[in-house]
Amino acid sequence: MIVGILGGGQLARMLALAGHPLGLKFIILDPEKEACAKGVAKHIHGSYDDPAKLELLAQQADVVTYEFENIPASALEFLANQVPVYPPRSALITAQDRLHEKALFSELGIATAHFAPVDNLADLKNAMQKILYPALIKTRRQGYDGKGQVVLRSATDLDAAWKTLQGVPCIVEALIPFDREISIIAVRNRKGKSKYYPVTENVHDAGILRSSKVLQQDPVQNLAIDYVQRLLHHLDYVGVIALELFQVGEQLLANEFAPRVHNSGHWTQNGSIIDQFENHLRAILDLPLGSTDSIGHAAMINLIGTVPKYEKILEQTHVNLHLYGKEERPGRKLGHINICTRDENTLANEIEALVKIAPR
Ligand code: AMP
Repeated sequence: MIVGILGGGQLARMLALAGHPLGLKFIILDPEKEACAKGVAKHIHGSYDDPAKLELLAQQADVVTYEFENIPASALEFLANQVPVYPPRSALITAQDRLHEKALFSELGIATAHFAPVDNLADLKNAMQKILYPALIKTRRQGYDGKGQVVLRSATDLDAAWKTLQGVPCIVEALIPFDREISIIAVRNRKGKSKYYPVTENVHDAGILRSSKVLQQDPVQNLAIDYVQRLLHHLDYVGVIALELFQVGEQLLANEFAPRVHNSGHWTQNGSIIDQFENHLRAILDLPLGSTDSIGHAAMINLIGTVPKYEKILEQTHVNLHLYGKEERPGRKLGHINICTRDENTLANEIEALVKIAPR
């Protein structure tokens, strides 16, 4: 079986690495000449809206998936006429637009921060009559890792914020004083069977995920499952999905979902029975799903901008190092460290040592 992937970054690379033991082959379509996944997959070099390249992908792949949200939905439509494509196009279209995403959460009874659409400065001023400061204005589309967002602390910030975002359609939402950020990774296969990983607690800095930690029997696990289940059913979803949430007291507020394997699920590679990458492949290939149970205490630390000395990291004895083979550049995700231990103390000690080597 050959799996086609739109996008050839680290997520495509890790999907391919997870699929090779199952005898799967991979083909990526990516506009970068030196795509990250090139070493483990055949590479079609081209853009996502080039019909000739899409045709080439459709001809060679038995099933097609995608590794990031910013691909044109028209590419999925084109491919879906020729080959099964998962996750469904409706999930991609919804996730590409923060307003549609938040509107869907509301429709499904999933709590969110107060939000309002903003198409011009007057809308923004009106919306801020109802939403309390501080708030965040975000572009509806193309935002990721905290890009395209401006904090609004008072009415005097509005004109400048609107100018910074260059007048594109936006959404404004209350800035949540959350106790913590969590995410839940779920997977649903073509027969509609779903499984859920334990929720992870995530630390972001400047909008970029720095680290994740899995919590055993987290008190909000069931509520998180309930929320993500509503999305899975509504979207008739197939594949892995990640739902990111803010916790405030007992309450969970949904921030966004990603219709793909997710950085906060990287710990599953070493800390679960079957990881998110393999389960995504099983789901889209109509295979039985594997157990999502964790096999100990686990955490993940991202390596961003620079990669510290190998040897230093590997001195910690419960560590698995995953490097993506990308060139160093500020703010770029270059790899991650998974730590998986039998007891919580060892996990805490190893994290403490690693944070000194690879600051979060
Ligand atoms: P996003 O691009 O929406 O995933 O936002 C990136 C990060 O910015 C989140 O993980 C949070 O740390 C922070 N953030 C986004 N929206 C909010 C919000 N409404 N309230 C508080 N923090 C937020």
